[in-house]
Amino acid sequence: MLVPVRCFTCGKLIADKYSDYQNRIKTGEDPKKVLDDLGMERYCCRRMLLTTVETIQQVIPFYEAMHKRNQEVQSELE
Ligand SMILES: [Zn+2]
Repeated sequence: MLVPVRCFTCGKLIADKYSDYQNRIKTGEDPKKVLDDLGMERYCCRRMLLTTVETIQQVIPFYEAMHKRNQEVQSELE
């Protein structure tokens, strides 16, 4: 959902590099070159950036709907 702060396998900090990685990929740079430039050498860390999918924007509406429904239920009980 959110970008993992650290590599699941080795614990290297990766969250600080995620936005830079995404911005450079969007401009059409080769992911291999970007990962090399960012100092991501181990394949466990590289897969973290390559495979992370940010889904928070898709999930938020469901939480808002759930919160709204909870408020409706509470007001009906009162
Ligand atoms: Zn790693």
